[in-house]
Formats: sequence, C-alpha cells, structure tokens
Amino acid sequence: MRLRNIKGSRDVIAESEFVVHEFREAKGKWAEIFENANPIRIEVGMGKGQFIYELARRNPDINYIGIEKFSSVLLRAIQKMEKEPLPNLKFIRMEAEWITDVFEKDEVDRIYLNFSDPWPKDRHAKRRLESRQFLERYDSFLKKDGIIEFKTDNHDLFMFSLDEVKEAKWNLDEVTYDLHNDEVMNENNIMTEYEERFSSMGNPIYKYIISRN
Ligand code: SAM
Repeated sequence: MRLRNIKGSRDVIAESEFVVHEFREAKGKWAEIFENANPIRIEVGMGKGQFIYELARRNPDINYIGIEKFSSVLLRAIQKMEKEPLPNLKFIRMEAEWITDVFEKDEVDRIYLNFSDPWPKDRHAKRRLESRQFLERYDSFLKKDGIIEFKTDNHDLFMFSLDEVKEAKWNLDEVTYDLHNDEVMNENNIMTEYEERFSSMGNPIYKYIISRN
C-alpha cells in the first residue's frame, strides 16, 4: 500500500493547513489548536486515513489526530481533507516513538491502533505499537479512564499484544478473535483500508479494548 516517492508529497505536506507541523510545540495546547475543549482521540499509524476521517465525519464533537510517518500515505489523507475538510481532524507526520513529546498528561482520551506493522523479528519487538514500551508511552498522556482499541488480522502480533497487556498490567476489557462475526463488538465498526483488504481475503479480524482502571 505504501506509495513510495510520490513526487512533491513532502511539499504538499509542508504547505498543508491540515497538518500540525510544529507538533512538539502543540504539547498541552491541543484544545487551543482545535479551538474547543472537546475530547481528543488519536490513531497511530493511520496510513491513508480512511478510518479516522470517517470517525471524524461521524463525530463532530470529538477531535481527532492521525499520526503517520510516511509522507506518501499521509498525502492521501490530506487529499481527502482538501475535497471535504473537517474542522475536528488534524494530522501529524512523525515517527510514533516520539509521541510523548506531543501530548501532555491526560490530553488524550482514546488511542486507536489499526493493522500495525508486525515487526516479526523478536529483536524488533519494542518497535511494535502494542509493545510494553509503547504502552508505557501511551500511559503518560492517556486519561485515567481512557482506552486503547487495537484491530489486526495478524495472529502472532495479536497474541504478542495480549501478552504485553498482561505484562504492563493493563486491563483487557473486551476481546474478539472474529470481529466481523461479533455482533456486539462489530456494532458501528469502521473498516480501515487494511481491514477491507484482509477481511475480503477471508482473514478473521482480531480486536481488543484495554484500559488501566
Ligand atoms: N491503519 C491503517 C489501516 O489499517 O489501513 C494502515 C495500516 S499499515 C499496515 C501501518 C501504517 O502505520 C503504515 O502507514 C505505517 O507507515 C504506519 N506506521 C507504522 N509504524 C509507525 C510508527 N512507528 N510511527 C508512525 N507511523 C507508523
């Protein structure tokens, strides 16, 4: 899916009003940036942004921030916003490892992780967005009663993520090994690009919701 070397994508991003460029300066100031005190929810590794764009469209009283490290896919999300702008959606182009530089304690009330890169080698486990290292980062800015929602079709990554939840002493509030056939958890489900692709191949979709109350 990654579209490498799209000509000018970095220039488009640099000039886009939908991207928060000085994101480190935004720490603790997201309410000012959105010009309201509505809850803030983020998607880490949003790809082309189909999921977060639709969430933002359906929920105008919630603010959303999509984080993506690659310009080529972020460009697609920007193009959606250019066609039909939403005031409650912003983007950041960054490597998620630095996420604690961007959000203040209690600034975010929900984190979405969708079809994260699996990093299959053990020595790369800490790069997985569901690793204990990332959970510790999320812990520093997620509200006390905030939640993380994670979906994937990757069985090994999902099993790893469940171990990490336990290891980090978060609560596993809800879990399914077949989201699309789970009436309760699938209610109002918004499909991501990867979810559409992999479920159409017959892969079951796994999902957890975790918290630390
Ligand atoms: N979430 C989308 C979906 O479900 O269709 C895209 C899934 S794609 C497999 C993973 C995306 O996460 C890629 O666009 C990748 O560049 C981004 N990503 C992975 N690790 C990241 C990181 N550490 N920081 C920022 N973005 C990341």
